Amino acid sequence: MPDLADVAAALAPAFSSKLVHWQESHGRHSLPWQNTRDPYRVWLSEIMLQQTQVATVLEYYARFLKRFPTVADLAAARSDEVLGLWSGLGYYSRARNLHRCAQDVVELHGGQFPQTAELLQTLPGIGPSTAAAVASFCFSERVAILDGNVKRVLTRLTAFSGDLASSAQERILLGLATELLPRRRLREDMPRYTQGIMDLGATICTSRQPSCLLCPVQDLCRGLASGAPERFPVKTRKLKRSVLPLSLLWAERADGAVWLERRAATGIWGGLYCFPVFSDEDALLAALPARLQGHLQAVPPFVHVLTHKDLRLSPMRLVLSARQAMALQLAGEGAWFGRADWTVLGLPAPIRKLLA
Ligand code: SF4
Repeated sequence: MPDLADVAAALAPAFSSKLVHWQESHGRHSLPWQNTRDPYRVWLSEIMLQQTQVATVLEYYARFLKRFPTVADLAAARSDEVLGLWSGLGYYSRARNLHRCAQDVVELHGGQFPQTAELLQTLPGIGPSTAAAVASFCFSERVAILDGNVKRVLTRLTAFSGDLASSAQERILLGLATELLPRRRLREDMPRYTQGIMDLGATICTSRQPSCLLCPVQDLCRGLASGAPERFPVKTRKLKRSVLPLSLLWAERADGAVWLERRAATGIWGGLYCFPVFSDEDALLAALPARLQGHLQAVPPFVHVLTHKDLRLSPMRLVLSARQAMALQLAGEGAWFGRADWTVLGLPAPIRKLLA
């Protein structure tokens, strides 16, 4: 059986040129973060697209750019405002890193993004794939991205049967991905190639039922030749899920204001404004004066799904008069927020849903 590196070397010229031509004629061209070499816009879209569908990102991307047209505007913003605009996209560490990254670009790099993947990775929240995307799209660096879509295309193309649960196998695949990059030094080739492999994974080489008949590299694809391209990629480790029960105190004043506390910067919903959170109902009751406990109303519990965890949320609602509200003393630092205030704050999605 030929060595995988030899396979990649043999495939490289035809693969990259077919992909570049296909992208030109059949790839995606109309997304708002395409057709630009502005690293701020490319970086913003790459961070938003992690774990989030294109359709959802479109709206947030436009809103962010309207409010923060440049990296300097984002760097100068208050973190509350950044988290507020991010609210609903989830994975809030992305928003916190986004803000810190913008500040570093301004403070450490004079407002200009570094131009190599290696330097880009020194910034907060920029991993190898995002760095490679920015460097290849904006600066034509010959560097490979390896996100989920790209892994699928490349493992099928080369019939790569290594288990991607192993980091050693991932490194081998990265080597293949680098070997397959275009050799020509044309300025347009790297951006088109990078976009092409992303487009192919997103629209043709999909995880279920890939459209191999429409694929520009079907004649090169060893996975297709094997008769079962969906066998690739191989990844054995399953995410271990856990369940975390939490009780939420939904304290509301007669005028509709709600009590919100800012969560610690790390952990679930880090940095967001939230109802007070307790490990269980007993802990919630213990935080309240006895005379208010009788006013609590249980709200039907529900499950909120995170990547590795299911949150089983049990809200308890407490509607208070203005006088009772003044007497409410909770351990955490918080305040009463009227509707006009909380609609622009960064709130966890399930809290926003409850309030809506
Ligand atoms: Fe994917 Fe099929 Fe194309 Fe192979 S031929 S890269 S399996 S779409």
